[in-house]
Amino acid sequence: MTFIQSRWALRGYQLYSQAASLLMVLVGLGSVLEWVARIDLVPDLGGRHMSLTAAICILLSGLALTAVGSEHRWQRRLASLLCAMVVALAADSLLAYQLGGYRGIAVWLDAAPGAGLRAPARMSELAAIGFLLLGGQGLLILNARALVLRETLGLGVLAIAMASLASFAFVLAQRGESLLDRLPILTGVLLLFGTLGWMSSVPTTGLTRISTAATLGGVFARSLLLPALLLPLAYTFVFKLLETRLGVSQIVASTLGAVFTGGSLAWMIWLVAALLDRSERLREATLRLRDAADTDALTGLGNRRKLDDVLQRLLHADRRQRLPFSLLMLDLDYFKAYNDDFGHQAGDDALREIGRLLRVALRPRDIAVRYGGEEFVLLVHGVRMPQLPVIAERILQAIRDNQWPLLPITASIGGAEVCGADSTATLLQRADASLYSAKRNGRDRFEAMGCAECIASRDAPPALRAREWDQPPPGCRAASQG
Ligand code: GH3
Ligand code: MG
Ligand code: MG
Repeated sequence: MTFIQSRWALRGYQLYSQAASLLMVLVGLGSVLEWVARIDLVPDLGGRHMSLTAAICILLSGLALTAVGSEHRWQRRLASLLCAMVVALAADSLLAYQLGGYRGIAVWLDAAPGAGLRAPARMSELAAIGFLLLGGQGLLILNARALVLRETLGLGVLAIAMASLASFAFVLAQRGESLLDRLPILTGVLLLFGTLGWMSSVPTTGLTRISTAATLGGVFARSLLLPALLLPLAYTFVFKLLETRLGVSQIVASTLGAVFTGGSLAWMIWLVAALLDRSERLREATLRLRDAADTDALTGLGNRRKLDDVLQRLLHADRRQRLPFSLLMLDLDYFKAYNDDFGHQAGDDALREIGRLLRVALRPRDIAVRYGGEEFVLLVHGVRMPQLPVIAERILQAIRDNQWPLLPITASIGGAEVCGADSTATLLQRADASLYSAKRNGRDRFEAMGCAECIASRDAPPALRAREWDQPPPGCRAASQG
């Protein structure tokens, strides 16, 4: 499915991706410099310092995120190389945790002068998993076939980063054991920025695609995804704070937490329902407008626009699957004289009555349109040339038999069956020529004009017979074929 993207949302995502990469480069560089020059550059949120390998991973990921959007191929290759380095560093740390005797690259870094003053060089296990996933996400970012895997890796990083944020909230609210011992909050926040940065760097694919769409779904995703992600976290923090710092009892704090979480969920569902409701109303209004645009105001039949649409659709259908259909062109006889004698208003009444007769005479799936002043076109589905006289005669008889208040009215009909190579113009031309012939041969009659292809296939059994129609009445002024 292709989406129309919102230009503003796309620009916003790209800006966010650039901002995230800049932040990662700055924090990563600052943290590395802290190690090398032993100076204080980056605030240590949550009282935990970032390890050197984590800082290097953040710096490399930030640089890769900057390079990935470049038009130059070598820069995109460089981005992949940097991501591969992130994966290697993270895998090295993980291996060091898993294999007893192996301490990994961090062993050399820890041996450097001044190392270990703030934190060990080796990143935590949770951070290593986070960077392994983040590096993998970056490696796959331009690979369309690995979309699902890439987004899954991104969601994995998101989960780890959110856990670190939740843990930080708990620590702020209530000092005690937390996940921060396993993942410093700054690393968690940067993992969050990083993974969202990767997702935003390709905003027309994957999970970000829907939130940049210029549709109601896009509006919905843009306005609700972030609150859905962050509100439970904010509530956890606020209600834990109430409990630990303001002395609110645990049961009251938990109940308030549940009520607010439920309330937010209900609010989001209400917003979705309101959006869907609005879209449904818009759709109905559009359908009504389209109906009005396709309807002839005098007779209530379709108009020429509708005929063009239907013919386009029928003629452009795959030829092998196209069902046969025929076109009848009906013109009232001596209608100018009727108007002249009884007035334009009486003429209009007669046209309305013709509209009613045609609606009654045709099957629901056939189409009658007012083609011009007192000319009508009928499309009869599944009907071929041999059945056309029956249908036409039935319509002519209905007009003849009608109780006309001023003067009996008759009509002439010209018919044509659709042929393989027909366009709207050629089909209408054949029906028009048949109508002209019917007029010339005395009016109040039907004539039809076939094409060579139809006549050649006449002997073959028709794909669909018009079973609903009666047999032709005896003496029917039936088809002459040219
Ligand atoms: P023919 O048998 O050859 O068709 O003769 P005709 O007089 O019907 O000729 P034509 O088909 O050219 O008729 C056109 C006339 O139809 C002109 C006009 O008086 C009448 N007409 C066209 N549109 C309308 C309309 O919207 N309302 C009314 N009342 N009359 C219309
Ligand atoms: Mg006429
Ligand atoms: Mg006419």
